[in-house]
Amino acid sequence: MKTVNHWIGGRAAEGASGRYGPVYDPATGEQTTRVAFASDGEVDAAVAAARDAYASWSTASLAARTAVLFRYRELLDARRDEIARLITAEHGKVHADALGEVARGLEVVELACGIPALLKGELSTQVSTRVDVASLRQPLGVVAGVTPFNFPAMVPLWMFPLAVACGNTFVLKPSEKDPSAALRVAELAAEAGLPDGVLNVVNGDRTAVERLLDHPDVAAVSFVGSTPIARAIQSRAVAHGKRVQALGGAKNHMLVLPDADLDFAADNAISAAYGSAGERCMAVSVVVAVGAAGDELVKKIAERAAALRIGPGTDPASEMGPLITAEHRAKVASYVRGAAAQGAEVVVDGTGLTVPGHENGFFLGVSLLDRVPVDADAYRDEIFGPVLCVVRAETYDEAIALINGSKWGNGAAVFTRDGGAARRFQLEVEAGMVGVNVPIPVPVGYHSFGGWKDSLFGDLHVYGPDGVRFYTRGKVVTTRWPDPAEVGGVDLGFPRNH
Ligand code: NAD
Repeated sequence: MKTVNHWIGGRAAEGASGRYGPVYDPATGEQTTRVAFASDGEVDAAVAAARDAYASWSTASLAARTAVLFRYRELLDARRDEIARLITAEHGKVHADALGEVARGLEVVELACGIPALLKGELSTQVSTRVDVASLRQPLGVVAGVTPFNFPAMVPLWMFPLAVACGNTFVLKPSEKDPSAALRVAELAAEAGLPDGVLNVVNGDRTAVERLLDHPDVAAVSFVGSTPIARAIQSRAVAHGKRVQALGGAKNHMLVLPDADLDFAADNAISAAYGSAGERCMAVSVVVAVGAAGDELVKKIAERAAALRIGPGTDPASEMGPLITAEHRAKVASYVRGAAAQGAEVVVDGTGLTVPGHENGFFLGVSLLDRVPVDADAYRDEIFGPVLCVVRAETYDEAIALINGSKWGNGAAVFTRDGGAARRFQLEVEAGMVGVNVPIPVPVGYHSFGGWKDSLFGDLHVYGPDGVRFYTRGKVVTTRWPDPAEVGGVDLGFPRNH
C-alpha cells in the first residue's frame, strides 16, 4: 500500500508519530493509501524549517522570486494531467472536472507571477516641506494553510503561491482524505527552484491543525473547510494572536425568474448542482423558482437528471463520480430518505443507484426534491452531495427575502432576461459572489474569492488583491532631508505639516 508522508525542509519526511489515516479509491471503495498523521513535534519541525527559510526568502529579490514562479507555472502546466489523475484516484471526481480544478489553481500561480506589480507601494512627495511619505507592504513570516478534501489541488494553490510570492514561507496541512495531489504540487514547487523550507507540507488531522493554530512562530492562517470548523479555527487562531481568513460551508441559491430561458436555466442548474457529485462549496444546492417558472423548470431538470452518466472518474464517459467516503454517502442519502416526511416532494430519488462492476464504490445517484419547506433538514443543512432542492416563491421579493434569510452567503445566482431585475439582485443579495446567468460565479484569479455571513470568518477573501493584502502588512515611512540652513530649534508640539 502507498504511504503519503510529509514534505519538510525540501525533502520527504517519513511519518514518525506511528499514526496513519486511510485513503480510499472512492470508485472501488478500497483503501489504496495510508497517510501519515503528524505529531506536535513534526509540525514544529515544519514550522522551524519555514522560519529558517524566511530570512533569505523574504529578502530575495522580486526578480529571483518571480523566476521560480514562472518556472513553477510551466511545470504545473506540463503536469496538469498527472495532477488531475491523482485527484480522481483519491477524490473520485471525473478527470475533466479534475483538469478544470488544476486550471483554476494555475490562475493563481499566474497571478503570483505578476507579484512585482501587485506589491508596488505608494509614494507621496513633499507632503510637508522636504518631507516624503511611502507606503510599503511587507511579508508576515511563516503562514499556515489548512485545506478541504473537495479541491485537493486548487485550494492549496489558492494560498501558497501568493503567500510565497509576497515573501512569506508556508506550512500546508492538506485534507487527510485525499492528500496526494497537494504533496505533488509541493514537490513540483521544489523542482521549479523554490528553496528548501519555503513550502512545507504536514499531513494529518486535528492534532496537526491545532498545533499550527497555537504555534508562536505561525503569523497567519488561511483555512477552507466546513462552517463549524472554520468558526473554531478563527477563534482559536485569533486567541493566539494570528491573522485569520477562514472560509466555511455554503448553501448556494439560484433564483430563476419567470422570464428566464428555462432550458438554459435547467442545463445550468443540473451542471452546477451535480458536478463533482455536489461536493463543491459553490455548488447550486437550492433553486428558487418564481411563479410560473416552477413546474416547467422542475420537469426539465428531472428529464436531464435521468440522462446523467454516473461512473468512475477515470471513465471518459462518466459525467459524475462517487462521493468521498461511505460515511458521507450514507449521510447524504439520509437527507433524501427523510425529505418526504418533512414535507418535500421527492421527484428523483438517486439513493438506490449501483454502478455495475463498482458495487463497493461510494456512488450515489442524483436526487431532486421539490417544494422543500424551509424548515426541512434538506433545506437547512449543507448536504454537500448530489441533492438539489427546489423552493417555490410567488414573487421576486419573496424569493430574495428567502435567500437572504439563509445563514450562509457564499455564492448566489439569478437567471433572467430582465436587466433591471438582475441589477436589483446584484445589489440586494447577501452573498460574496454573485452570478447573473452564471451558476457558479467563482472569480478569476485576479479578483478575490470569498463569502459573507457563515461562509467566511475573517475580513479578507482569498487570492486576487485581497490575497496580497492578507499575506502582507502595511508599513508607512515618513522621510525628511532637511536643508542644513533650517536645522535647529526645539518644538514640543505635535508635528504639523507645513
Ligand atoms: P472539514 O471542515 O471537515 O475539513 C477541512 C480541514 O480541516 C481538513 O484539513 C481537516 O483535516 C481539518 N479539520 C477537520 N476537523 C478539524 C478539527 N476538529 N479541528 C481542526 N481541524 C480540523 O471540511 P471538508 O469536509 O474537508 O470539506 C468540505 C467543506 O469545505 C464543505 O463544508 C465545503 O462547503 C467547504 N468548502 C468551502 C470552500 C469555500 O471557499 N468557502 C471551498 C471548499 C470547501
